[in-house]
Amino acid sequence: MSATPFVLSVVVPAYNEEEVLPVFQQRMLAVLQGLGCGYEIVYVNDGSKDRTLEVMHALRRDDPCVTVVDLSRNFGKEIALTAGLDKAVGDAVVVIDADLQDPPELIPELVRQWQSGFDMVYAQRVARDGETWVKKLTAKLFYRLVQRASRIEIPKDTGDFRLLSRRALDALLELREHHRFMKGLFAWIGFPSVAVPYRRDPRAAGITKWNYWKLWNLAVEGLTSFTIAPLKLASYVGFVIALLGFAFAAVIVYRTVAHGDPVRGYPSLMVAILFLGGVQLVAIGALGEYLGRVFNEVKHRPLYLLKGFAPSRAHAARLAAAPLPPTPMVDEGARAQGLESR
Ligand code: UDP
Ligand code: MG
Repeated sequence: MSATPFVLSVVVPAYNEEEVLPVFQQRMLAVLQGLGCGYEIVYVNDGSKDRTLEVMHALRRDDPCVTVVDLSRNFGKEIALTAGLDKAVGDAVVVIDADLQDPPELIPELVRQWQSGFDMVYAQRVARDGETWVKKLTAKLFYRLVQRASRIEIPKDTGDFRLLSRRALDALLELREHHRFMKGLFAWIGFPSVAVPYRRDPRAAGITKWNYWKLWNLAVEGLTSFTIAPLKLASYVGFVIALLGFAFAAVIVYRTVAHGDPVRGYPSLMVAILFLGGVQLVAIGALGEYLGRVFNEVKHRPLYLLKGFAPSRAHAARLAAAPLPPTPMVDEGARAQGLESR
Protein backbone atom coordinates (compact mmCIF):
# COMPACT_ATOMS: atom_id res chain seq x y z
CA MET A 1 0.00 0.00 0.00
CA SER A 2 2.70 2.42 0.97
CA ALA A 3 6.42 2.57 0.23
CA THR A 4 7.43 3.17 3.85
CA PRO A 5 6.83 0.16 6.07
CA PHE A 6 4.76 0.83 9.17
CA VAL A 7 3.12 -1.04 11.99
CA LEU A 8 -0.60 -0.70 12.61
CA SER A 9 -2.02 -1.48 16.05
CA VAL A 10 -5.68 -2.39 16.45
CA VAL A 11 -7.00 -1.96 19.99
CA VAL A 12 -10.09 -3.95 20.97
CA PRO A 13 -11.70 -3.63 24.42
CA ALA A 14 -13.85 -6.65 25.20
CA TYR A 15 -16.24 -7.52 28.00
CA ASN A 16 -17.98 -10.90 27.71
CA GLU A 17 -17.37 -11.24 24.00
CA GLU A 18 -16.42 -14.95 23.74
CA GLU A 19 -18.95 -15.59 20.97
CA VAL A 20 -17.87 -12.84 18.65
CA LEU A 21 -14.08 -12.73 19.07
CA PRO A 22 -13.17 -15.63 16.72
CA VAL A 23 -15.35 -14.14 13.96
CA PHE A 24 -13.88 -10.72 14.67
CA GLN A 25 -10.32 -12.04 14.46
CA GLN A 26 -11.02 -13.73 11.13
CA ARG A 27 -12.50 -10.62 9.52
CA MET A 28 -9.84 -8.38 11.01
CA LEU A 29 -6.96 -10.56 9.81
CA ALA A 30 -8.35 -10.62 6.28
CA VAL A 31 -8.32 -6.82 6.28
CA LEU A 32 -4.91 -6.43 7.92
CA GLN A 33 -3.22 -8.93 5.62
CA GLY A 34 -4.57 -7.00 2.65
CA LEU A 35 -2.85 -3.85 3.91
CA GLY A 36 0.64 -5.25 3.43
CA CYS A 37 2.02 -3.60 6.58
CA GLY A 38 3.15 -4.84 9.99
CA TYR A 39 0.28 -5.16 12.43
CA GLU A 40 -0.80 -6.25 15.89
CA ILE A 41 -4.21 -6.76 17.48
CA VAL A 42 -4.30 -5.65 21.11
CA TYR A 43 -7.18 -7.38 22.91
CA VAL A 44 -8.09 -5.99 26.32
CA ASN A 45 -10.05 -8.34 28.55
CA ASP A 46 -12.09 -5.99 30.75
CA GLY A 47 -12.76 -8.46 33.58
CA SER A 48 -15.07 -10.67 31.51
CA LYS A 49 -17.12 -13.27 33.34
CA ASP A 50 -17.21 -15.71 30.40
CA ARG A 51 -14.37 -17.40 28.52
CA THR A 52 -13.24 -14.24 26.71
CA LEU A 53 -9.70 -14.44 28.13
CA GLU A 54 -9.25 -18.08 27.10
CA VAL A 55 -10.51 -17.24 23.62
CA MET A 56 -8.00 -14.38 23.39
CA HIS A 57 -5.11 -16.62 24.36
CA ALA A 58 -6.26 -19.23 21.85
CA LEU A 59 -6.30 -16.56 19.13
CA ARG A 60 -2.79 -15.53 20.17
CA ARG A 61 -1.61 -19.11 19.87
CA ASP A 62 -3.03 -19.20 16.34
CA ASP A 63 -1.40 -15.93 15.36
CA PRO A 64 1.41 -14.19 17.29
CA CYS A 65 0.22 -10.81 16.00
CA VAL A 66 -2.08 -10.78 19.05
CA THR A 67 -1.34 -8.95 22.31
CA VAL A 68 -3.49 -9.89 25.31
CA VAL A 69 -3.94 -7.31 28.06
CA ASP A 70 -5.85 -8.70 31.02
CA LEU A 71 -7.29 -6.20 33.50
CA SER A 72 -7.66 -7.23 37.14
CA ARG A 73 -11.43 -6.57 37.05
CA ASN A 74 -14.07 -4.78 34.97
CA PHE A 75 -12.98 -1.15 34.68
CA GLY A 76 -15.40 -0.08 31.94
CA LYS A 77 -14.84 0.42 28.26
CA GLU A 78 -13.16 3.80 28.43
CA ILE A 79 -10.43 2.59 30.76
CA ALA A 80 -10.05 -0.77 29.01
CA LEU A 81 -9.46 1.19 25.84
CA THR A 82 -6.79 3.30 27.55
CA ALA A 83 -5.01 0.18 28.82
CA GLY A 84 -4.91 -1.16 25.26
CA LEU A 85 -3.66 2.15 23.87
CA ASP A 86 -0.91 2.20 26.51
CA LYS A 87 0.34 -1.13 25.21
CA ALA A 88 0.01 -0.44 21.48
CA VAL A 89 3.37 -0.12 19.71
CA GLY A 90 2.14 0.85 16.22
CA ASP A 91 2.94 3.92 14.16
CA ALA A 92 -0.80 4.37 13.95
CA VAL A 93 -3.53 2.82 16.06
CA VAL A 94 -7.11 1.89 15.27
CA VAL A 95 -9.71 1.73 18.03
CA ILE A 96 -12.59 -0.65 17.31
CA ASP A 97 -15.37 -2.51 19.17
CA ALA A 98 -15.25 -6.29 19.36
CA ASP A 99 -18.89 -6.78 18.37
CA LEU A 100 -18.34 -6.04 14.65
CA GLN A 101 -20.65 -3.03 14.75
CA ASP A 102 -17.66 -1.17 13.38
CA PRO A 103 -16.75 -2.86 10.07
CA PRO A 104 -13.00 -3.73 9.93
CA GLU A 105 -13.26 -3.34 6.14
CA LEU A 106 -13.23 0.43 6.67
CA ILE A 107 -9.67 0.34 8.06
CA PRO A 108 -7.85 0.58 4.69
CA GLU A 109 -9.69 3.85 4.06
CA LEU A 110 -8.74 5.14 7.53
CA VAL A 111 -5.12 4.25 6.80
CA ARG A 112 -5.25 6.03 3.43
CA GLN A 113 -6.43 9.23 5.09
CA TRP A 114 -3.72 8.93 7.75
CA GLN A 115 -1.09 8.52 5.04
CA SER A 116 -2.36 11.63 3.32
CA GLY A 117 -1.49 13.56 6.47
CA PHE A 118 -4.33 13.40 9.01
CA ASP A 119 -3.60 12.57 12.65
CA MET A 120 -7.13 11.63 13.58
CA VAL A 121 -9.34 9.78 11.14
CA TYR A 122 -12.72 9.12 12.68
CA ALA A 123 -15.45 6.92 11.27
CA GLN A 124 -18.77 8.73 11.08
CA ARG A 125 -22.05 6.81 11.03
CA VAL A 126 -24.48 7.53 8.23
CA ALA A 127 -27.02 5.04 9.59
CA ARG A 128 -27.67 3.54 12.99
CA ASP A 129 -29.21 0.22 12.08
CA GLY A 130 -30.55 -1.93 14.88
CA GLU A 131 -30.90 0.91 17.35
CA THR A 132 -34.17 2.22 18.78
CA TRP A 133 -35.41 5.71 17.94
CA VAL A 134 -35.16 6.59 21.63
CA LYS A 135 -31.43 5.92 21.57
CA LYS A 136 -31.00 7.85 18.35
CA LEU A 137 -32.90 10.84 19.71
CA THR A 138 -31.15 10.91 23.09
CA ALA A 139 -27.76 10.58 21.41
CA LYS A 140 -28.58 13.51 19.14
CA LEU A 141 -29.78 15.73 21.98
CA PHE A 142 -26.74 14.90 24.07
CA TYR A 143 -24.24 15.89 21.37
CA ARG A 144 -26.07 19.15 20.77
CA LEU A 145 -25.90 19.91 24.49
CA VAL A 146 -22.21 19.14 24.92
CA GLN A 147 -21.38 21.15 21.84
CA ARG A 148 -23.23 24.17 23.18
CA ALA A 149 -22.01 23.94 26.73
CA SER A 150 -18.33 23.26 26.08
CA ARG A 151 -16.14 24.89 23.50
CA ILE A 152 -14.91 21.54 22.25
CA GLU A 153 -16.33 20.37 18.98
CA ILE A 154 -17.24 16.70 19.29
CA PRO A 155 -18.01 15.42 15.78
CA LYS A 156 -21.60 14.16 15.47
CA ASP A 157 -22.43 10.49 15.01
CA THR A 158 -18.98 9.22 15.85
CA GLY A 159 -18.10 6.51 18.30
CA ASP A 160 -14.68 5.40 19.40
CA PHE A 161 -14.03 3.74 16.01
CA ARG A 162 -11.13 5.75 14.57
CA LEU A 163 -7.45 5.85 13.68
CA LEU A 164 -4.88 7.90 15.56
CA SER A 165 -1.36 8.74 14.46
CA ARG A 166 1.46 8.05 16.88
CA ARG A 167 1.74 11.70 17.86
CA ALA A 168 -2.00 12.01 18.46
CA LEU A 169 -1.88 8.81 20.52
CA ASP A 170 1.04 10.05 22.62
CA ALA A 171 -0.85 13.28 23.25
CA LEU A 172 -3.97 11.37 24.26
CA LEU A 173 -2.01 9.15 26.64
CA GLU A 174 -0.81 12.20 28.52
CA LEU A 175 -4.37 12.77 29.68
CA ARG A 176 -4.57 10.50 32.71
CA GLU A 177 -7.83 11.73 34.21
CA HIS A 178 -10.03 9.10 35.80
CA HIS A 179 -13.30 10.38 34.43
CA ARG A 180 -12.59 9.51 30.87
CA PHE A 181 -15.12 10.69 28.36
CA MET A 182 -13.14 9.38 25.40
CA LYS A 183 -15.03 11.17 22.66
CA GLY A 184 -14.33 14.42 24.45
CA LEU A 185 -10.65 13.58 25.00
CA PHE A 186 -10.23 12.65 21.33
CA ALA A 187 -11.67 16.03 20.40
CA TRP A 188 -9.70 17.91 23.04
CA ILE A 189 -6.24 16.96 21.74
CA GLY A 190 -6.91 18.60 18.38
CA PHE A 191 -4.54 17.83 15.44
CA PRO A 192 -5.70 17.63 11.81
CA SER A 193 -8.80 15.43 11.70
CA VAL A 194 -11.03 14.05 9.00
CA ALA A 195 -14.24 12.01 8.90
CA VAL A 196 -14.85 8.83 6.90
CA PRO A 197 -18.55 7.93 6.56
CA TYR A 198 -19.73 4.36 7.15
CA ARG A 199 -22.81 2.28 7.93
CA ARG A 200 -22.95 1.01 11.50
CA ASP A 201 -24.09 -2.62 11.56
CA PRO A 202 -26.16 -4.28 14.27
CA ARG A 203 -24.22 -6.39 16.78
CA ALA A 204 -22.92 -9.65 15.25
CA ALA A 205 -23.51 -11.66 18.44
CA GLY A 206 -23.98 -11.22 22.18
CA ILE A 207 -25.83 -8.33 23.79
CA THR A 208 -25.07 -4.66 24.28
CA LYS A 209 -23.37 -3.81 27.56
CA TRP A 210 -25.16 -0.50 27.71
CA ASN A 211 -28.41 0.34 29.44
CA TYR A 212 -30.10 3.69 29.94
CA TRP A 213 -28.64 4.17 33.40
CA LYS A 214 -25.10 3.68 32.03
CA LEU A 215 -25.85 6.01 29.12
CA TRP A 216 -27.20 8.64 31.52
CA ASN A 217 -24.01 8.38 33.57
CA LEU A 218 -21.94 8.72 30.41
CA ALA A 219 -23.88 11.86 29.53
CA VAL A 220 -23.30 13.39 32.99
CA GLU A 221 -19.65 12.44 32.63
CA GLY A 222 -19.41 14.11 29.24
CA LEU A 223 -20.95 17.32 30.45
CA THR A 224 -19.18 17.67 33.76
CA SER A 225 -15.72 16.77 32.51
CA PHE A 226 -15.85 19.26 29.67
CA THR A 227 -17.77 22.23 30.97
CA ILE A 228 -18.55 24.01 34.22
CA ALA A 229 -21.71 25.45 32.66
CA PRO A 230 -24.00 23.82 35.28
CA LEU A 231 -22.07 25.58 38.06
CA LYS A 232 -22.33 28.89 36.26
CA LEU A 233 -26.02 28.33 35.71
CA ALA A 234 -26.47 27.76 39.44
CA SER A 235 -24.79 31.04 40.30
CA TYR A 236 -26.78 32.99 37.70
CA VAL A 237 -30.07 31.55 38.93
CA GLY A 238 -29.02 32.38 42.49
CA PHE A 239 -28.23 35.93 41.47
CA VAL A 240 -31.58 36.48 39.75
CA ILE A 241 -33.45 35.05 42.72
CA ALA A 242 -31.55 37.22 45.13
CA LEU A 243 -32.55 40.28 43.07
CA LEU A 244 -36.20 39.21 43.04
CA GLY A 245 -36.07 38.59 46.80
CA PHE A 246 -34.62 42.02 47.36
CA ALA A 247 -37.37 43.66 45.29
CA PHE A 248 -40.03 41.65 47.13
CA ALA A 249 -38.57 42.70 50.48
CA ALA A 250 -38.74 46.32 49.40
CA VAL A 251 -42.41 45.89 48.48
CA ILE A 252 -43.19 44.34 51.88
CA VAL A 253 -41.38 47.08 53.78
CA TYR A 254 -43.27 49.70 51.79
CA ARG A 255 -46.63 48.00 52.39
CA THR A 256 -45.99 47.60 56.11
CA VAL A 257 -44.98 51.21 56.52
CA ALA A 258 -47.81 52.62 54.38
CA HIS A 259 -50.71 50.32 55.32
CA GLY A 260 -49.83 48.84 58.72
CA ASP A 261 -49.21 45.16 59.37
CA PRO A 262 -52.16 42.85 58.59
CA VAL A 263 -51.20 39.18 59.08
CA ARG A 264 -51.35 37.83 55.54
CA GLY A 265 -48.96 36.30 53.10
CA TYR A 266 -48.91 32.62 54.04
CA PRO A 267 -49.15 31.47 50.38
CA SER A 268 -46.40 33.78 49.19
CA LEU A 269 -44.24 32.74 52.13
CA MET A 270 -44.72 29.07 51.36
CA VAL A 271 -44.03 29.56 47.66
CA ALA A 272 -40.85 31.49 48.35
CA ILE A 273 -39.55 28.90 50.83
CA LEU A 274 -40.27 25.89 48.62
CA PHE A 275 -38.91 27.55 45.52
CA LEU A 276 -35.71 28.64 47.21
CA GLY A 277 -35.27 25.25 48.83
CA GLY A 278 -35.57 23.58 45.43
CA VAL A 279 -33.12 25.91 43.77
CA GLN A 280 -30.63 25.41 46.58
CA LEU A 281 -30.84 21.64 46.39
CA VAL A 282 -30.27 21.69 42.64
CA ALA A 283 -27.29 23.99 43.04
CA ILE A 284 -25.83 21.82 45.81
CA GLY A 285 -26.34 18.80 43.59
CA ALA A 286 -24.37 20.43 40.78
CA LEU A 287 -21.61 21.36 43.23
CA GLY A 288 -21.59 17.79 44.50
CA GLU A 289 -21.07 16.39 41.02
CA TYR A 290 -17.92 18.44 40.61
CA LEU A 291 -16.70 17.91 44.14
CA GLY A 292 -17.06 14.16 43.67
CA ARG A 293 -14.95 14.33 40.55
CA VAL A 294 -12.27 16.38 42.25
CA PHE A 295 -12.30 13.81 45.06
CA ASN A 296 -11.79 10.97 42.62
CA GLU A 297 -8.99 12.70 40.75
CA VAL A 298 -6.95 13.80 43.78
CA LYS A 299 -6.62 10.21 44.95
CA HIS A 300 -4.21 9.70 42.05
CA ARG A 301 -4.90 6.03 41.80
CA PRO A 302 -3.58 4.16 38.77
CA LEU A 303 -6.22 4.10 36.04
CA TYR A 304 -6.26 0.31 36.01
CA LEU A 305 -4.37 -2.73 37.23
CA LEU A 306 -3.19 -5.63 35.12
CA LYS A 307 -3.57 -9.28 35.97
CA GLY A 308 -1.72 -10.50 32.91
CA PHE A 309 0.03 -9.35 29.77
CA ALA A 310 1.12 -11.30 26.70
CA PRO A 311 2.84 -9.22 23.98
CA SER A 312 2.42 -9.63 20.25
CA ARG A 313 5.37 -10.36 17.99
CA ALA A 314 5.43 -6.70 16.91
CA HIS A 315 5.48 -5.65 20.57
CA ALA A 316 8.38 -7.98 21.36
CA ALA A 317 10.27 -6.78 18.28
CA ARG A 318 9.79 -3.16 19.29
CA LEU A 319 11.11 -3.99 22.75
CA ALA A 320 14.21 -5.68 21.34
CA ALA A 321 14.87 -2.84 18.91
CA ALA A 322 14.41 0.00 21.38
CA PRO A 323 14.58 -1.07 25.02
CA LEU A 324 13.94 2.36 26.48
CA PRO A 325 11.93 4.65 24.19
CA PRO A 326 10.68 7.82 25.84
CA THR A 327 7.06 7.56 26.99
CA PRO A 328 5.00 10.53 28.10
CA MET A 329 3.70 8.63 31.07
CA VAL A 330 3.54 5.05 32.33
CA ASP A 331 0.74 3.33 34.17
CA GLU A 332 1.58 2.86 37.82
CA GLY A 333 -0.25 -0.42 38.02
CA ALA A 334 1.69 -2.11 35.27
CA ARG A 335 4.99 -0.70 36.50
CA ALA A 336 4.41 -2.08 39.99
CA GLN A 337 4.14 -5.52 38.46
CA GLY A 338 7.23 -5.09 36.32
CA LEU A 339 5.12 -5.28 33.20
CA GLU A 340 5.69 -1.82 31.82
CA SER A 341 7.21 -2.29 28.46
CA ARG A 342 7.07 0.76 26.25
N1 UDP B 1 -16.85 -3.08 26.69
C1 UDP B 1 -15.80 -3.15 27.61
N2 UDP B 1 -16.08 -2.98 28.95
C2 UDP B 1 -17.34 -2.74 29.41
C3 UDP B 1 -18.39 -2.64 28.45
C4 UDP B 1 -18.10 -2.81 27.11
O1 UDP B 1 -14.66 -3.38 27.23
O2 UDP B 1 -17.52 -2.60 30.62
C5 UDP B 1 -16.55 -3.28 25.24
C6 UDP B 1 -17.44 -4.31 24.55
O3 UDP B 1 -16.92 -5.61 24.70
C7 UDP B 1 -17.39 -3.83 23.11
C8 UDP B 1 -17.30 -2.32 23.24
O4 UDP B 1 -16.81 -2.07 24.58
O5 UDP B 1 -16.25 -4.30 22.41
C9 UDP B 1 -18.62 -1.64 23.01
O6 UDP B 1 -19.60 -2.18 23.87
P1 UDP B 1 -21.10 -2.42 23.41
O7 UDP B 1 -21.13 -3.05 22.07
O8 UDP B 1 -21.79 -3.16 24.50
O9 UDP B 1 -21.65 -0.92 23.33
P2 UDP B 1 -22.59 -0.31 22.17
O10 UDP B 1 -22.02 -0.72 20.84
O11 UDP B 1 -23.93 -0.89 22.41
O12 UDP B 1 -22.52 1.16 22.40
MG1 MG C 1 -21.69 -2.45 20.23
